[in-house]
Amino acid sequence: MSKSTGTDSPSVAQAVSKIFNAETGGDIAFKSSDNVVFYVHSKNLEFMSEGFPSMDHTILPKNPITLTENLHTLELLFQFTYHCMPPDLGDLDCERLLELAEAADKYVIHYARAHCRIHIRKFIHDPAKRLGIFAFACKHDYEDLIYLVAPLLVHKPLSEVLYEVPISMLVPWSLYHNQYLLSLLSVSLECFRKANGSNLPVQCGDGCTDAKTHDDYWAERIEDCRKKISDQSFPFTTAINALVDDYLVPEQYRQPCCNRFLSWRDQFKQRQQHDLKYFVEEHRRRMEGK
Ligand SMILES: [Zn+2]
Repeated sequence: MSKSTGTDSPSVAQAVSKIFNAETGGDIAFKSSDNVVFYVHSKNLEFMSEGFPSMDHTILPKNPITLTENLHTLELLFQFTYHCMPPDLGDLDCERLLELAEAADKYVIHYARAHCRIHIRKFIHDPAKRLGIFAFACKHDYEDLIYLVAPLLVHKPLSEVLYEVPISMLVPWSLYHNQYLLSLLSVSLECFRKANGSNLPVQCGDGCTDAKTHDDYWAERIEDCRKKISDQSFPFTTAINALVDDYLVPEQYRQPCCNRFLSWRDQFKQRQQHDLKYFVEEHRRRMEGK
């Protein structure tokens, strides 16, 4: 088995991949950005990928084609071009996964792209990773990932987001973010103002047999919503939904005496936001109309 790592010094043997080496064969040689040589079968690349340079003749290991990806990325990537079980990406950290996903996109290895996308989703719960994932998804137009992460980033200042996204996303994202700020303002001003000495925008109606319990219930729900909106790591739309979704309101708080709450809530619901997809499609439509 060949040595898998080493330096570029002439006195030291050329480092060769543990998985793709002379013993495993191949008619084309690549070198990673960190100077490790890979022996690969060009037929596999022809069938499973696009965009690798110079595959029309044999490339000897003495004169390999240098790629911009590192050993770790290429070792995983090439495995997706062979007829074998794909490598397990479960232990990859987000950075390495995104590097692999970038390479999979660059060389159009669909099998690897699909696996990467599945694993990238795991990291959207980490606030520190979201923007990088969003930028990646925008760059490669992975719509499912874009719209999954967008509500988790909408609260971020434009200055943090705009330079991370492609030009085509600037207008939709700005409008989406602007809508968020306006909604937040409207929620703050209208929905949580003190009314009639109470924290509630409305109170339970006349003839309610248990007004205190009912008002307390709604006060709790509204306060919970306010807290979730204030907690910027919490998705805004999820906070709103927690208040307005019918299935979350027990039967006893959907009685006629609660109609004021329910109608206030419906008005509130109508101010719910468009999602990013709406702004992307609206922008596209307008641009096409020009
Ligand atoms: Zn009531």
